[in-house]
Amino acid sequence: MFKGILIERDEAGYRAGVKDIDEAQLPEGNVTLRVSHSTINYKDGLAITGKGPVVRKFPMVPGIDLAGVVEDSSHPEYKAGDAVVLNGWGVGETHWGGLAQKARLNGDWLVPLPAAFTPQQAMAIGTAGYTAMLCVLALERHGVKPADGEILVTGAAGGVGSVAVAVLAKLGYTVVAMTGRTNDADYLKALGAAEVVDRADYATPGKPLGRERWAGAVDVAGSHVLANVCATTKYRGVVTACGLAAGMDLPASVAPFILRGVTLAGVDSVMCPRADRLVAWQRLGSDLDVIKLGQISREVGLAEAIPLATSILKGEVRGRVVVDVNR
Ligand code: NDP
Repeated sequence: MFKGILIERDEAGYRAGVKDIDEAQLPEGNVTLRVSHSTINYKDGLAITGKGPVVRKFPMVPGIDLAGVVEDSSHPEYKAGDAVVLNGWGVGETHWGGLAQKARLNGDWLVPLPAAFTPQQAMAIGTAGYTAMLCVLALERHGVKPADGEILVTGAAGGVGSVAVAVLAKLGYTVVAMTGRTNDADYLKALGAAEVVDRADYATPGKPLGRERWAGAVDVAGSHVLANVCATTKYRGVVTACGLAAGMDLPASVAPFILRGVTLAGVDSVMCPRADRLVAWQRLGSDLDVIKLGQISREVGLAEAIPLATSILKGEVRGRVVVDVNR
């Protein structure tokens, strides 16, 4: 038996609780892991509360990411004792995830734990931080350089946003942090933001084009925020879009794209090819100060993770939450 959060849906309703789970119930897979840490991402919030159609099979162990040690493997690249990390691939959605002491999954989904990080630190980064790095890589791929001007990060006090601010600042970019929590300006400045702007100024319908300001942007919000960010991006600037914290819609015009040559670059972490994941984790090792992870993250046990699912959807969680699944 092992402990894990189990999401059930039946006549009694949709619910999540910490349960003792029989190992025989673990799903198919060629690698069995002893999980040490998982996290609470925005998507885990949707899964645990049932507020979004994230979970596709019941019962489900949530947790879209994990760090752990291989217990048993028939995969050619992994043997017992290897330390690994997992992000995405539908884990915690269609396949049992990381918010439990054991996991069994496809070894092709794993990456080795980066040498720069402990398992706890890798999960302080988690899927949110790895996605932030995918956004940074997309800005670089499209040629955005520190000398080009200010980079805007939306949802800056959240998980993706906090890591994006820290990494971009370390790389020498001038980072402007957009937040609904302007009281947290000191937190964002300590991570490296040069300036903090109020989300409220971007959250309502705006003009097709505004004053050109951003050389690049990392957007976790979508909806009017993303539309206004595109409208205020400089000629040939690049906006990376990875989230929907403000909404799934995009009430924008084509003006920024056809008149200013702005690029809107989509970023997905779930099905991202393994080679790109390895680059992202390696770059996190070199471009994120481990010391900043202490400022960004805090740790909770399995049972405490459940109420945090509601808090993260309300935008009340600052930075990242690591879950010690053995606590
Ligand atoms: P968090 O909840 O940690 O951060 C989201 C932040 O967005 C909040 O902290 C808040 O920041 C801001 N926010 C909240 N509500 C609104 C709103 N109505 N309008 C504008 N901003 C808002 O979540 P994560 O960082 O884990 O994820 C952020 C987004 O990215 C989510 O939508 C998530 O689904 C998506 N995501 C996508 C991935 C992909 O593969 N494409 C992978 C990982 C995440 P503040 O208080 O500073 O304003």
